[in-house]
Amino acid sequence: MAHLTRQQLLRAMTALGAVAASPAPALGAAAKAPVRTLIRDVDAVTMDPARGELSGVDVLIDQGRIAAIGKGLNVAGAHVVEASGMVLMPGMADGHRHIWQCVEAGRVVKTNHRQFSAEYQTWKMKWMPCATAQDHEFIAYYGGLQAIDSGVTALIDHAHGHHTADRTLAAARGLKASGVSGWYAHQVSHTIDYGPGDTVPLAHASKQATAFTDASHWEAMRRLRAEVFGGSSDLLNLGMALSVGSQGQPVERVRTEEFEPGRRLGVRLITFHANRIPPYPAGRFGHRGLGIRDLHEAGLLADDVHCSHGVGLSDDELGLMRQTGAMLCATCMAETFPRNAQARRDPAMARGRKAGVRTGIGIDAPLAMTSDFFEHIRASYYAMAQHEESAAIVADYTSADLLDIATRAGYDAINLGGVAGKIAVGQRADLVLLATDRPGFPTAGSLADRIVNYAARSDIDSVWVAGRLRKSGGRMIGVDWKAMNAKLQAIQERIHALARTITFV
Ligand SMILES: [Zn+2]
Repeated sequence: MAHLTRQQLLRAMTALGAVAASPAPALGAAAKAPVRTLIRDVDAVTMDPARGELSGVDVLIDQGRIAAIGKGLNVAGAHVVEASGMVLMPGMADGHRHIWQCVEAGRVVKTNHRQFSAEYQTWKMKWMPCATAQDHEFIAYYGGLQAIDSGVTALIDHAHGHHTADRTLAAARGLKASGVSGWYAHQVSHTIDYGPGDTVPLAHASKQATAFTDASHWEAMRRLRAEVFGGSSDLLNLGMALSVGSQGQPVERVRTEEFEPGRRLGVRLITFHANRIPPYPAGRFGHRGLGIRDLHEAGLLADDVHCSHGVGLSDDELGLMRQTGAMLCATCMAETFPRNAQARRDPAMARGRKAGVRTGIGIDAPLAMTSDFFEHIRASYYAMAQHEESAAIVADYTSADLLDIATRAGYDAINLGGVAGKIAVGQRADLVLLATDRPGFPTAGSLADRIVNYAARSDIDSVWVAGRLRKSGGRMIGVDWKAMNAKLQAIQERIHALARTITFV
């Protein structure tokens, strides 16, 4: 392949404005220190089966947790948020999101589905070698803030856009600094030996994108553990995602080279895309169904295993997942779009939940879809209602079921069950306060009905993560979106220009 000399490359980059690299983002200053906070006279949808919906209560936050719930609490010295007429709900959990894609939102979208299907992988294979560690730190920081802004207080970042240790460490630091909770799940995949200015066979690039894990990914995992995720009080935890190439490998190899090293590092969440199409030979991971039975028979399926998409999971596979405590994230909006010539497909959400599998919701691709999580809740319902089997299940749903999938059950479906997702004493204070005074926000119906059918990101007045106020009066505290958007766009344009210098043949 035709490598540019370093000098040629520097000239090209200088012309593109890349050498005057963007400074590291000013991280960590955005969150106000936790204080005792009294949210006064609020209507609360607790998602706690014992309490249901409460009207006109006070909720006390202390030391990052919900310390008391009741009418007319008398608390001296607390910061008071007057919330009369507003609605308090638990923060929401996104079980499957590729944070890094937020930098390119709009580049290839799913309403141009043929174009999306044709271009996504080649776009990604050109984009990755052009993004620097510094870019990744800022992008992940931005993506974490964007999640919090939309009421998503916990998530799994399936981090599959970073092929070197430096890049993935930078992204992990950026996401951690954003203050969002959940998991940074480094995908132990991708080795890229080409870069700007190169002409490479497409087959070569594809092979690198879909390869099985190698030593470099485990060096990255060890460094992530040692340098970023050491603290026991961290809100963001180290997870991992199986390599793309794990599917089709002998199951024993997936055990010894991916599951076991991950678990030895103390990883408590191992995710993978359960959407590959076999056939693979017998004995290979994914040779039947979506690979769940393969993992189970190898003794690998457990309550730290999480799969995304899961369209077409069989009843047998769902049964094994329930038995072992494995988790599922349906990304219904993503699944709703037509896929090549195929019709739209039945998402796994209703079937997973009915089977007793810990099932949540995810947006999947910020590249191509809105980050307004309320839209994803509604889209999930619409998507399920289009398919016979799911339609029969959701016919019995109420709005509270859908809100549960996004909150209490959603936290449980990312291995944070019992930590947050409910408004109950002792829960971590991950909370969202909705304004209700805009035209069209209803005053009748249950709180869950109103939220699930009508709420939008723009209704979010305040967000707390672990008791820290991150958004107030509809604005993220300490975040200059105008400046951040300008920086994101500059990164986008620089990378895009560089990516166009890579030619696949
Ligand atoms: Zn995905």
